[in-house]
Amino acid sequence: MTGPAPASPPAVRGWPAEIFLARLNAAADTDVTVMLRCETAPRAAAVMAALAAEGRRQPVAKIGVRARQLEPVRRAPLAFGPVRLGPSADRAGPVDVVRAADDPSVVIARWSHLAGDARSCQEFLLDGLERAGLLGDGPACRCVRLPAGASRPLVPADAWTILREKRSAGPLDALYAAGPAIGPMIRPAPARLAAAAGPWPAGRDAFASVTMPSAPPGGGSRFAAVTAAVGALFGQPGRRRPARFGITVDIRRHEESMTGPDTAGNLSLVGWIDCPSGPDVPAAAVHARVQSLLKSRFWRQQLAFDAWLGNRSPAAVARACDTLIGRLADRAPVTVTELWRDDGTPCASCGHRRRRLPTDISPVVIPPAMPPAGLTVGITRTERETIAVLRRMTRPGTSALAWLHAVTPRLRGGEVTMSGTVDLA
Ligand SMILES: [Zn+2]
Repeated sequence: MTGPAPASPPAVRGWPAEIFLARLNAAADTDVTVMLRCETAPRAAAVMAALAAEGRRQPVAKIGVRARQLEPVRRAPLAFGPVRLGPSADRAGPVDVVRAADDPSVVIARWSHLAGDARSCQEFLLDGLERAGLLGDGPACRCVRLPAGASRPLVPADAWTILREKRSAGPLDALYAAGPAIGPMIRPAPARLAAAAGPWPAGRDAFASVTMPSAPPGGGSRFAAVTAAVGALFGQPGRRRPARFGITVDIRRHEESMTGPDTAGNLSLVGWIDCPSGPDVPAAAVHARVQSLLKSRFWRQQLAFDAWLGNRSPAAVARACDTLIGRLADRAPVTVTELWRDDGTPCASCGHRRRRLPTDISPVVIPPAMPPAGLTVGITRTERETIAVLRRMTRPGTSALAWLHAVTPRLRGGEVTMSGTVDLA
């Protein structure tokens, strides 16, 4: 497949931002895949039962069913590299849960992106485990939750309405944010992903899980350190051009009016930075660019756009989305996104830290595949370690796995712990 599958009208009407996610789903796998490795098989059985029960609870179940109806393609993965999935995944609202076929201590939960973003996914999983008594006690942030009686997750247009009602932002703010929000999308990326030489076995969709150094060399955040390391995958040795990175920003952490409770949904938005790339770029240089992107509040243009397009015909929005998706690899070949954050940082609204997994359950989160011919880097951040999972889609006739094997040795300080093709039925 070179582009999204043809559009057929979904059973429910989505907002423009949802139509964009639906069109991405038509082109590639958009689920967030969470692997939970438990210390024992009975523990994994309890985790699986807890997540299925959470998916069947209202209003989660209703919202999950709606999200799945918006997805044009249903994919049932057979394997993520060496991890083969057991038969009969349990579809419960927004998640499919299943255990690994060869290792009963591993639970795999696949979360529909249309039911929410990575933070909503994390809070959903923690809600389920907490209700089943599998988490510790103590005060913790529970701000990201579905309001009772909700019929869908929050979309960017909802966030815009909230900002307008609270007088935190208006049309002028959206216009000021248009430059940084749209500019990179109308200019091809300065550097392309390096191509790997050699024969191409089958497999256009592959991933590699890489444990990164816990303390970033040269300052900056752990996020910036991973992004800087990924910069080494660009271009040819000796030819230095800036690399463009898509950066997901959780507006629940950066818009003061959005930090309160009842904010489950798709509120992580992608902005772009152009940075020096190469094997020796300090994380601090990337960190500075991320900070200036945050200062631009680029997301306000995207929130307003979602609201302003709400009255357009879904078919017209879908066509525009397909055009944009077709250009993504050329304009923004790499996206870096934080998919799991369990490092004890306090919530800006309630001051409590997030709930955390007990020490006998370890997460690794595999990002959605960003089509076509793109790379998505998903970060799992816990107090103990930083894991970057690189998921690559390549063009027809080429091998994502061969590409990953060729480039991952260039990730400085990284140790590959698992890799393989993603086999989707
Ligand atoms: Zn909170």
